[in-house]
Amino acid sequence: MKRYVIVGGGPAGISAAQAIRAKDPDGAIVVVDRDQDPPYYRTELDTYIAGATSDAEMPLHPPSFYAEQRIDLRLQSVVTAIRPGEHAVQLSTGEVLPYDALLLALGALPITLGWFDSSIPALMTVRTWQDARWVVQRATASNGPVVVVGGGVLGLILAEGLRERGRPVELIEREARLWAPMFDDEASAMITAKLGERGITVRLREEITVVEPAGNVAVLSTTNGRRLTSDLVLVAIGVKPDLTLLAGTGIRADRGILIDHECRTNVPDIFAAGDAAQAYDPLSGQFRVVTNWNYAMEQGKLAGTCMAGGGAPAKGAVTSNAETFCGVRVSGLGLTQPRPGTTLVIGRDAAKGIYRKLVVKQDRLIGALLVGNTSGEGMMRKTMLDGAPLTPADAKSRFLTGLVLEETTVA
Ligand SMILES: Cc1cc2nc3c(=O)[nH]c(=O)nc-3n(C[C@H](O)[C@H](O)[C@H](O)COP(=O)(O)OP(=O)(O)OC[C@H]3O[C@@H](n4cnc5c(N)ncnc54)[C@H](O)[C@@H]3O)c2cc1C
Repeated sequence: MKRYVIVGGGPAGISAAQAIRAKDPDGAIVVVDRDQDPPYYRTELDTYIAGATSDAEMPLHPPSFYAEQRIDLRLQSVVTAIRPGEHAVQLSTGEVLPYDALLLALGALPITLGWFDSSIPALMTVRTWQDARWVVQRATASNGPVVVVGGGVLGLILAEGLRERGRPVELIEREARLWAPMFDDEASAMITAKLGERGITVRLREEITVVEPAGNVAVLSTTNGRRLTSDLVLVAIGVKPDLTLLAGTGIRADRGILIDHECRTNVPDIFAAGDAAQAYDPLSGQFRVVTNWNYAMEQGKLAGTCMAGGGAPAKGAVTSNAETFCGVRVSGLGLTQPRPGTTLVIGRDAAKGIYRKLVVKQDRLIGALLVGNTSGEGMMRKTMLDGAPLTPADAKSRFLTGLVLEETTVA
């Protein structure tokens, strides 16, 4: 009987467990997670904060699922060491779990800055369901302004969630536009306007410099010389995998754990998937960490299948994220920023609030930014992964029909 150990009960870990069970009915599967809650929809933490998702809607599966699938789910258990030589991991309790195949589906942790002091109760980050419960407690305890630091996807959805609780929200972003890696100025302005209509004030090109505790609140000083006082300051400036567990294991990592097309690390019988992994991106030719729920599910499934002795190698990772900001559906795929040798093919319908930008390089689609109408995103993603030919003219006829068109070539 093969022994599988999975560290992390997020979408990557759980879809891996399911894939293993589908291929290996007899194997022993242990999933270890430090979280107190059984696996849940992390993607719904913002709607949970908003009050739109209930406790009952949060779990990924009913409790019976784990027994039915014969998955030994160990919650509130922390893996503290990996011992590849012994093919075993150690838990904080001292217990040692031997494995024939090990998956590291560790996820990622919020990034914080030097001024972040977790002993100041007003300062918070959101990664777990428990974090979200604490935020709800604070968000519903008073009426003053809330500050969200970070104008990326997470900052935007959390700002919206808090606004739904009736709190005035100020969002501070150090870059000149929202979601800077994916948006351009036009998309950023469209979403800023929508946020404004909802009562969320966006402050661009501003950073927090100093935070001082003052009883129940925090007093923030900013680079623009402003001082803000709030009892709830949510920091959402990004996430990064916590790789301390790899120390001394020989497992290669960069920003994330480096994996091949079958989710294998360089160490035999150890795999990685999800936010903690860094996989090949055919568009940039680099290895990238992609922090995305669907991608974690896909990668976990592949990892599980390969751990159980099967699998078809993946084509790689295309950075992608789709969200709804204040009722506007937005999707960003691949490389959306202008770079030399690219042609930007843009379609607009101002009256309908639609903006679609495709980035084409050497007759290949390498990026897409879709605001207000995200149709065709699945096909675009496939076109990017397959490297299928697509000229600017094709881009217009396939994906931008009915829109006012513009084409610009970046020298
Ligand atoms: C508020 C919020 C909203 C989001 N919304 C979206 C969205 O709308 N769309 C989208 O695509 N993505 C969204 N994401 C991102 C998405 O949730 C992640 O990309 C996804 O959860 C990654 O899955 P994973 O399995 O790799 O890691 P995770 O879901 O982070 O799971 C990893 C697990 O590993 C456990 N773990 C780590 N180290 C150890 C250890 N040493 N011992 C034991 N357990 C350990 C952790 O406790 C954790 O439960 C959102 C994230 C947040 C926080």
